[in-house]
Amino acid sequence: MSLLIKDESPEKLIGEDGKRLDGRDLNELRPIKMEVGVIPNADGSAYIEWGGNKIYAAVYGPREVHPRHDARPDRGILRTFYRMTTFSVSERKRPAPGRREKEISMVIKNAIEPVLFLELYPDSVIEVFIEVISADGGTRCACTAVAILALADAGIPMKGLITAVAAGKVDGKLIIDCSGDEDKSGEADLPCAISWYNNQIALLQFDGIMDLEEFDKSIDQIIEALEKIRKLQEEALKKRYIDVRDHLKNYKPKVVTTNNIEEKIDSNNQQNQNGGDQRE
Ligand code: ADP
Repeated sequence: MSLLIKDESPEKLIGEDGKRLDGRDLNELRPIKMEVGVIPNADGSAYIEWGGNKIYAAVYGPREVHPRHDARPDRGILRTFYRMTTFSVSERKRPAPGRREKEISMVIKNAIEPVLFLELYPDSVIEVFIEVISADGGTRCACTAVAILALADAGIPMKGLITAVAAGKVDGKLIIDCSGDEDKSGEADLPCAISWYNNQIALLQFDGIMDLEEFDKSIDQIIEALEKIRKLQEEALKKRYIDVRDHLKNYKPKVVTTNNIEEKIDSNNQQNQNGGDQRE
């Protein structure tokens, strides 16, 4: 457990035992939990807990574009809104979306857009609202991972999933999945997302200093971590389908037999006949 005073930067991020402040090994991920289909009002939704991050994503659409001049006659458009709630960090965050939120909304959109078949939805918009309830480093990666699940839950056709994680460097050592403290006080932060359908990098940002060898090693560690996270995404999606299937199994449609229908037709005919007789 971290013994830091709120918002105080730690002197050392790796202890004598080689472990990080939260007890993790250098290449160990934080605990990750994902759930799909958590917001009944949305067309698709998902939730992720990734270390201290708690994030919801909700999808609306495809639906009509407003304002109309944004509409594209040849394809749909994707809008992503990344927001941190005022209570998501220890200092109250200003409610108005700042530059950082706009930038993260954009990088998530750029990562996801190429895997969607937007050409199927001319004149329409698909909107993804991502709300960070609690932030603790690596929110853009967690948001990318949860947004693609919400889109899948909304039934938006896609070429494949996208998974993201950040590597970093603290106290001269390469690490995977930076926490908030490591992000703030570390020497480098390297968020990266992969699009699995073509194994291409969908997002890559870099802040800090690393030599080329460290960069290559970090990318190897990222790929190893991304494969573990993708399995969790797939499990969360499968669980959603199993839940829906089980729900449908218990659903008993009302069966109307042919006899009933014939009786109904007879009685309707009779009523019409009587009505007609009265009018004559
Ligand atoms: P990411 O969350 O993708 O790592 P940043 O590197 O910009 O993005 O932010 C690192 C962490 O810094 C965030 O996850 C969050 O814990 C913290 N943070 C971001 N914005 C604020 C803010 N306005 N006030 C306090 N902490 C913040």
